[in-house]
Amino acid sequence: MNRGINTRCLHLEETEGKTENYGSLSFPIYQTATYAHPGVGESTGYDYSRLQNPTRDHLERIVAGLEHGKEAFALSSGMAAITLLFELFHPGDHIISEADLYGGSIRLFDHVSKKNGLEFTFLNCATDDIEGAILPNTKAVYIETPTNPMMNVSDIGKISGICKKHGLLLIVDNTFLSPYFQNPLLLGADVVIHSGTKFLGGHNDTLAGFIVTDRDEIVEKLRFLIKTTGAGLAPFDSWLLLRGIKTLGLRMERAQKNAIELSSWLKKQAVVTDVFYPGLPEHPGYEISKKQARGFGSMITFNVDTKEHALQILKEVKMIKFAESLGGTETLITYPTTQTHADVSEEVRLRNGITPCTLRLSTGIEDVEDLIAELSEVFARLD
Ligand SMILES: *Cc1c(COP(=O)(O)O)cnc(C)c1O
Repeated sequence: MNRGINTRCLHLEETEGKTENYGSLSFPIYQTATYAHPGVGESTGYDYSRLQNPTRDHLERIVAGLEHGKEAFALSSGMAAITLLFELFHPGDHIISEADLYGGSIRLFDHVSKKNGLEFTFLNCATDDIEGAILPNTKAVYIETPTNPMMNVSDIGKISGICKKHGLLLIVDNTFLSPYFQNPLLLGADVVIHSGTKFLGGHNDTLAGFIVTDRDEIVEKLRFLIKTTGAGLAPFDSWLLLRGIKTLGLRMERAQKNAIELSSWLKKQAVVTDVFYPGLPEHPGYEISKKQARGFGSMITFNVDTKEHALQILKEVKMIKFAESLGGTETLITYPTTQTHADVSEEVRLRNGITPCTLRLSTGIEDVEDLIAELSEVFARLD
């Protein structure tokens, strides 16, 4: 596996030199629920699409290659992936989790996992003492880095060291940087999660989620769970993901370039009070990012001076869309307080640094001059 990542977005070595599927360059969409068997006790390798589907398999092998994992599992959304993964735990298990997470993950942990008997300690994994929070029943550490939305960066290798010492699983939601910029498994993580809806799909047109691991016993359990619970990604959506991934590198580089320019521009605006982007040298996670990732990504969180200004910006943007989600070709601006993090209590939001003045920007691949022109106009019109 020493081919470059852009090549690995397009080609799967194991299928090369074969002329099946009429030599079709685009992988076929096997839109089938079931498969005919040659005889009793015989199988083509495919029995029923809840268990296996060739289009989904192809996608899973591409994503496993991108993350340097043994296996990847493609699920119907990022939340379906996290939900499936948490079936690995049992009532009474304790999880140490990053506090500043995607709001849907906090909602899952607070309202579903706790009901199922799991216990959580939420920490700022970039600064708090993780080792000190380990209990006899702790089973895993769950992090995002950079975090959604406050862009805190934690040291994956360092946390992996703590996890290995205490026999804990390290799970990293790698959605924000994608495998193009960061590979947590190579830094010692055991499991990587993706919302494939974001950078991997990349076109704001479909939902998907991934679990990638290099641990055999986890692969086996997940295979059983996906067959049993049934949230595998549909064939057409798998194809959309394959198509999106072909341009992952081009999109990531372009969106990051826009984010670097936009973050320095934002810093100079009178209405903007704070800019959280790990590519700014003054960001506390800048050095760690340079050490563990190949880029800083294209997510920028910033605060403006008043809540009224935040609301007015969201109302007045036109080309930049006021919408949830991120990581697509189009630039989106999000209001964590009422969107992604609406179900997180105000107390927790404020503790994490999400205020009514906080906005989150996912830069797309437009011309950055046009993004700056639109924001300049909107800022100039603020009351
Ligand atoms: C969006 C997101 C998720 C959830 O993924 P869906 O595909 O929307 O279900 C999980 N983690 C992070 C970091 C996300 O941004």
